[in-house]
Amino acid sequence: QMALCVFRDLSDEVLASQMRRDFVANVSHELRTPLTALMGFIETLRGAAKEDPVARERFLAIMARESGRMERLVQDLLQLSRVEAEERVRPSTPVDLAAVLRQVTGALKPMAESLGAEMELEGFDRPLTVPGDSDQLVQVFTNLVENGLKYGAAGQVLRLRATAENSIRGPALRITVSDQGEGIDPIHIPRLTERFYRIDGHRSREKGGTGLGLAIVKHIVQRHRGWLKLESVKGVGSSFSVILPQG
Ligand code: ADP
Repeated sequence: QMALCVFRDLSDEVLASQMRRDFVANVSHELRTPLTALMGFIETLRGAAKEDPVARERFLAIMARESGRMERLVQDLLQLSRVEAEERVRPSTPVDLAAVLRQVTGALKPMAESLGAEMELEGFDRPLTVPGDSDQLVQVFTNLVENGLKYGAAGQVLRLRATAENSIRGPALRITVSDQGEGIDPIHIPRLTERFYRIDGHRSREKGGTGLGLAIVKHIVQRHRGWLKLESVKGVGSSFSVILPQG
């Protein structure tokens, strides 16, 4: 029995260090790709493209995009390490989720408009208070709404719904973000909140994704002693729900 315990601890440790190595390898790769592009274009601008204003503008636009990608990645990495470090301390300031969702949808309105999408709020016409960290909850719903817009169909209606619920931790509030996108194959669901896990890496990068959005969501929700749930039907859409205990 003893030996078995020691063995299990050891394999947990091996697993953790393997995950750490994978993470560092992933980060390095994600940073190297835009960096290589930037260095290549700097060389081109110093040489062949020096006298060609059209090429220069085009290359500068690519360089701006690649620097933006690096900046987002570094921001998400910092955010993730911050939430991981604080995970054991449950935040306790009263936060009104109705105000949070109004802030999030307000900030993402330009993005929705540029995609011809509409955002519909339901059940937010009353105060919805949970103990929490307001900035982090803004981050959670920003990531979920952004994903719904990014991976949803053009011209879709993105539904945001608030409902009361009885959880095993007592009264809770459920916020659901439902898109009319392509849906998610069930085989991906268990791994979706892993850092850098993407169903279609090319598509995610093209849309400016870092692959860290749902990992950040998961950690913040855990810190709030809540649950993240996903229901998805291929070809119909996905609904991400966050359930937050009120007590
Ligand atoms: P990313 O920065 O790639 O969007 P996330 O961690 O936010 O990273 O999401 C991980 C992956 O989950 C995405 O690359 C995408 O494949 C998938 N995904 C997330 N949200 C949705 C959604 N609403 N519909 C379909 N796929 C989604």
